[in-house]
Amino acid sequence: MLLRAAAGSDVGRRRAANEDHYVLAPEIGLYLVADGLGGHVAGQIASELAAEAALSALRTLQGTGMSLAEKLRYAVIAANREVHETARRRRELAGMGTTLVTLLAQEGRAALAHVGDSRAYLVRSGRIRQLTDDHSLVGELVRRHEISPADAREHPQRHVLTRALGVRPSVEADLAELTPESGDVFVLCSDGLTGRVRDEEIARLANDLDDPQEAVDVLIRLANERGGEDNITVAVVRCEKEMAGG
Ligand code: MG
Repeated sequence: MLLRAAAGSDVGRRRAANEDHYVLAPEIGLYLVADGLGGHVAGQIASELAAEAALSALRTLQGTGMSLAEKLRYAVIAANREVHETARRRRELAGMGTTLVTLLAQEGRAALAHVGDSRAYLVRSGRIRQLTDDHSLVGELVRRHEISPADAREHPQRHVLTRALGVRPSVEADLAELTPESGDVFVLCSDGLTGRVRDEEIARLANDLDDPQEAVDVLIRLANERGGEDNITVAVVRCEKEMAGG
């Protein structure tokens, strides 16, 4: 399987700083989005520390016999420890944390891990499926059918997370493994996108725009045109059959 990926991050139109962070590391099949919390500097540090710790853990695990999900579980533990211990050492960073959503794709298989309300979607044959459950108060309410996804986007407590990385000494990530098919498009994103752009729109753009960078740019522009109330980060990963000789 050949993967073509692109990502982008934008501060949006209301926030003074961008606390989101992304990593594209195609050489090890890692794609990641993190959305930091805890105030400007702390949030920026949390998302970057988590991203770098996960990347470095996964590089170390290359060539081991672990399954992709096991590798991601280990990477999330390493990232959590890094953020949590840094917050304990530096009082001005106390309480910082971050969301984390990661896709690890190697040798025709893929695994996902996430904590928080950044999302992973799979667009297959034009249909979109959210692969992650939001670890947020409104996410719980939607799953219990107490409010609709549209209500969730406008809910006053929509930013309250029920699980975040780095806030406690340990954290449990949700893990999943799947087999990508040719034509699949994965979209990883922070809530600055999903707060403003509906799933069907993400599906259409990710499906129709062959160039992943163009899909990223158009999605970010759309979220900004609709207010850009939060930082917006998007990674798009397209799976294609490898061509002989190409
Ligand atoms: Mg956000």
